[in-house]
Amino acid sequence: MLVQSNHIHTFRLRMIETTSYTLIDGKKVSTDIKTEIMQRVAERKEQGKKLPHLAIILVGDDGASQTYVDNKVKSCKSVGFHYTMMRFADTISEEKLMKHIDHVNNDDDVDGFIVQLPLPSHISVEKITEKIRPDKDVDGFTNQNFGSIISKSPLLMPATPFGVMELLRRYNIETEGKHAVVVGASRIAGAPLSMMLTEQAHATVTICHKYTKDLANFTRSADILLVAVGKPGLITGDMVKEGAVVIDIGTTRVEGPQFAKGWAIKGDVDFKTVAPKASFITPVPGGVGPMTIASLLLNTLRATELQHP
Ligand code: NAP
Repeated sequence: MLVQSNHIHTFRLRMIETTSYTLIDGKKVSTDIKTEIMQRVAERKEQGKKLPHLAIILVGDDGASQTYVDNKVKSCKSVGFHYTMMRFADTISEEKLMKHIDHVNNDDDVDGFIVQLPLPSHISVEKITEKIRPDKDVDGFTNQNFGSIISKSPLLMPATPFGVMELLRRYNIETEGKHAVVVGASRIAGAPLSMMLTEQAHATVTICHKYTKDLANFTRSADILLVAVGKPGLITGDMVKEGAVVIDIGTTRVEGPQFAKGWAIKGDVDFKTVAPKASFITPVPGGVGPMTIASLLLNTLRATELQHP
C-alpha cells in the first residue's frame, strides 16, 4: 500500500514538473494574415480592381497616438494599400471635424477610415463615431457594427475582439460549450468580445466588471479567461484554473528604473504565476496587440470588397 501511494505521489510530482503551455504568438499570426492580405491585393490588381484605401484622421499631437498611427501607416504600406493621413490641430471644433468626416464618407476613393482616439475633451467621441459611415467604419466602433455582431452577416467587426477570435480560431482552441469569462466590459473590447464568444464561438459567457464581487470566484471557473481591464497584474496564478486558456488584452505603460527604456508595456495577467497553470496564453507585448492592426487591415480589405466587388 505504502509503495503504491509513493508511486502515485511521484507521478503527481512529475505531472506538475512537466506542465507546459503553448504561447499564442500574435506577431506570427498577424504576419501570416498580412501575407494573405498581400495575396488578395495582388489578385485584385491583376483583375484590374480598385485597391484598398484607408484614411486616418489624427487630432492633436499626442505622442502615443502618433506611434499607433505610424504603425498603422507602416502596415498599410507593407500590404500594398493606399493610405491618406489627415491631421488636425487639437483646437479644431467638433462641427468642423464632423464636416471632414462627411467629406471622407462621401469620397468614393476612400474605402475605410478611422478617427484615432483619444480626442480632445471638447469633442464627443460618441458623436464623431456615429458620424462614420458603418460600411467605412474599419475600427468597427459604430452602434450599427456593434449590433451587427449578433446578426447572421456582421458588417465590420470591432478590431480588437475580432483579432482575439482569430487567435482562438487559428490555434484551434475549442470554444463550443466552454465557459468563457471576460473580465472588463468596455464598448471596444470586453462587451463586443463577449457577444462574439456567444454568437460565433458558442461559448457560455460570463462578463465581469469593476462591480463584480469576488472576481476570483468567476475567473477560477473559466475554461477560457479573457482580460481587458488596464490594471497590470490583476490576474494572478491563484485566480486561474489548471489548463485554462488565457488571453491578455491589457496594455498599460508602466514606468520604472528596472526597465531598460525606463518603461515597459504590461498586461493585466501576471504572466509568471499564471503561465505555468495555463494550456495556452498570450504574451504582452506580442499577443493580442499585433492582431488589432491585422484586423484593421482585414476590415479595410472587406470594406473595399463590399464597396467595389
Ligand atoms: P476601459 O474602457 O477603461 O474599460 C475597462 C473595463 O474594465 C471596464 O469595463 C471596467 O468596468 C472594468 N474594470 C475596471 N476595474 C476592474 C476590476 N478591478 N475588475 C474587473 N473589471 C474591472 O478600457 P478598454 O479600452 O477596454 O481597455 C482595457 C485594456 O485593454 C487597456 O489596458 C487597453 O490599453 C487594452 N486594449 C488593448 C488593445 C490592443 O490592441 N491590445 C485594444 C484595446 C484595449 P466598468 O465597466 O464597470 O467600468
